[in-house]
Amino acid sequence: QDPEAQSMLEAHEWLTKLYSHMLRNSKEGKQALQYMLDRGFTEEIIREYQIGFSPTSPSFVVTFLEKKGYHPQTMVKAGLLNVNDKGDYSDRFRGRIMFPLRNHLGKTVAFAGRSLGDQQPKYLNSPETDLFQKGRLLFNFDLARSAIRKTKTIILFEGYADVIAARQAGVENGVATMGTSISEIQAQLIDRYAEQAIICYDGDEAGMNAAAKAAKLLKLTGCQINVARLPEGMDPDDYIKKHGGDRFKKEVIDASDPYTSFIINYLRRNYNLQLEGDRIAYIEKVLQEVAQLDRAIEREHYLKEVAADFDISMETLKDEVDQLKKRVP
Ligand code: ATP
Ligand code: MN
Ligand code: MN
Ligand code: MN
Repeated sequence: QDPEAQSMLEAHEWLTKLYSHMLRNSKEGKQALQYMLDRGFTEEIIREYQIGFSPTSPSFVVTFLEKKGYHPQTMVKAGLLNVNDKGDYSDRFRGRIMFPLRNHLGKTVAFAGRSLGDQQPKYLNSPETDLFQKGRLLFNFDLARSAIRKTKTIILFEGYADVIAARQAGVENGVATMGTSISEIQAQLIDRYAEQAIICYDGDEAGMNAAAKAAKLLKLTGCQINVARLPEGMDPDDYIKKHGGDRFKKEVIDASDPYTSFIINYLRRNYNLQLEGDRIAYIEKVLQEVAQLDRAIEREHYLKEVAADFDISMETLKDEVDQLKKRVP
């Protein structure tokens, strides 16, 4: 094992413990702890996720790591310290709520630090390092693994807070990306462990667009995709805190839309269906989606909707889809 990588891992392990201690037991961390409790996170879940607090002093971690004997330059490489032109070291994370980002083995390889108030950026993540590539890691995969295996289903959230709130509510098969759009490697990982993926992003424009992107990418792996709908302006964490876990399971997860329904609704937003030209273009798009479905029963289901919505005969629609099917391999 590469000794530098080993010290980087060890330092993350130490800091996970230190930050967690600071949140739960220090005077400095009191306000941060209260913030988390006010948001409805329990002390138990805070402990399970080893959520912590980074003190505001610029050299709290510098001093700590030095005492432990770690080379500061290595700690810069680990993304835990900053260094300026003059060679002065300082803490990367200050005055933030610290979420350890663990790899599939449960080892902390990076941190995400959330600001307490409205300070920007809201989340500060570790940079990419030898230990941490954000496109290769799924937040919570280590804890979610057994639930994913049992249910054959994975739930993909947008934020760390959503994953943690879901687990607190008994939904244990949730993961999240690191605030970036999902990568091909992450999609393959999901497909390898789950038969079905439920995308559960925020109920806003950004969340909707990101969900469409993720759905399309995940679809390519052959995974069965559903997309959940959240009330405008709410994310899964908000929903769970407001309505509880049972309603979240029933009304959001179990009520999620199959891929094709989602796409049909999503596409609709780009057209003004009062205009004939738009209407025809939209129907064309929908039929392209329907033509990709393997099962005749499914195709018929969507065609019936189109037939009713636009007053077109089933015969015409089926002809169109047959034509399109000849074109797609
Ligand atoms: P909270 O509930 O604490 O406000 P959230 O998860 O709802 O957090 P969103 O604004 O919905 O936050 O963002 C979703 C995810 O995007 C976050 O979990 C984080 O990974 C990432 N993210 C958000 N803001 C930033 C930022 N300024 N820099 C980097 N990543 C960010
Ligand atoms: Mn969001
Ligand atoms: Mn959110
Ligand atoms: Mn949120």
